[in-house]
Amino acid sequence: MKEIELPILPISVIGSYPKPKWLREAIRARAEGKIDEAHMEEAYNDAVSSVVREQELLGVDIPSDGEMRREEMVEYFAERIEGFKFFGKVRVWGNNYFRKPGIVGPLKWRGPMTVEEFKFLRSVSTSPAVKVPITGPYTIADWSYIIYYKSKEEATFEIAKIINRELKALEEAGANFVQVDEPALTTHPEEMEWAVEAINEAVRGLNIKVGLHVCYSDYRILKPYYDKLKVSQFALEFANRGFSDLEVIRGLNVELGFGVVDVHNRFVESPEAVEAAILKVLNYVKPECLYINPDCGLKLLPRKIAREKLRSIKIGTERVRKKLNEKGIIKTYLKSEVNCS
Ligand SMILES: [Zn+2]
Repeated sequence: MKEIELPILPISVIGSYPKPKWLREAIRARAEGKIDEAHMEEAYNDAVSSVVREQELLGVDIPSDGEMRREEMVEYFAERIEGFKFFGKVRVWGNNYFRKPGIVGPLKWRGPMTVEEFKFLRSVSTSPAVKVPITGPYTIADWSYIIYYKSKEEATFEIAKIINRELKALEEAGANFVQVDEPALTTHPEEMEWAVEAINEAVRGLNIKVGLHVCYSDYRILKPYYDKLKVSQFALEFANRGFSDLEVIRGLNVELGFGVVDVHNRFVESPEAVEAAILKVLNYVKPECLYINPDCGLKLLPRKIAREKLRSIKIGTERVRKKLNEKGIIKTYLKSEVNCS
C-alpha cells in the first residue's frame, strides 16, 4: 500500500460516535413505516457528513463514520450474513438489551456489508486516512447461539472466512485502515489459541493497515499472543484503569492505539491528564509507533461529552507533539508493515 504521511501521534477514534438525536427519531420513524428507504438513506448520509466533520474539526486525524448506520456491532453483521436468525432479546449490562442471533444454517457471504459505508465516508472526509471498524469473528460467534455447527470454534472459522472476503472487498474499494473489533477475545482464556488463529484467518492476505481493538479485557491474557496476531496495531484501553497497567505493553512489537479517555464515564479528562498519560506511555513505545484514541467507541456518551473528550485529546496530544517536534520528531506514516520492536 502507499504510505500516508500523518502528524506524529496521529489521533483516531475506535469507531462509534453518538448518533444525532434527529437520526434516532428518523430510525424510529422508519421502523414505524413513516418514512421511506430513500429518506432514511439521506438521513444516514447527513449524519455521517456531520459527525465526520465534527471529528475533523476537533482534531481527529483518522476519523470513522461513527457507525451511524449500525445499531449494534454483532447484530449489524448477523443481519447481513446468510445463516443467521434472530431470537429474542437478552439482557446485557444492566438495562441494555441485545437481540441475540443464532447460527441456524451454513454461513455465507452475501456480498459487501461495509463497502458502501466506506465509500461514503471516503467521499465526505478531507483526511488522508479514514478507519473502518469491523466486528471480529470470535466476538460474532461468542455473542451468538451456535445451532448449525458442531462447535463455537467451527463457527468462528466460518465467520473468519466471511470477514476476510469483506476486508478484501474494502481493500479493493480503496480502504487503507481497517480495524477488527474483538471485545470478547479474552473472555474465555481457554479458547484464545484458536480464536487468535481465526483472527489471522480473517486478516489473511491483506495489504492494508489492520488494527485490532480489544476492550473489557485483562490484557495479561492477550499479551502472550502479541507476536502471533498478524496485525500492525493494537488499539487498547488504559484510561479506565488510570493507566496503572502500562507494563503490559512491553513486548508489543507493533503499533499501539493508546486509549486516553474513558468512554464509560461522563467526567471529562483534562488536556493535562491526556498529556501526562502520553508522556508516561512513551516510556514503553516509540513515538512513531503510537496512535492516540479514546478507550473504546464513544456512542454511549452524550454527544457534548464526546466532543469535549476529543477536544481534551487534541490539546493534550498537541502539547506532546510540540515537545517531540523540538527533538525533530514531526511525522509518522500509515503503513501495513511496521517495526516497533
Ligand atoms: Zn471497545
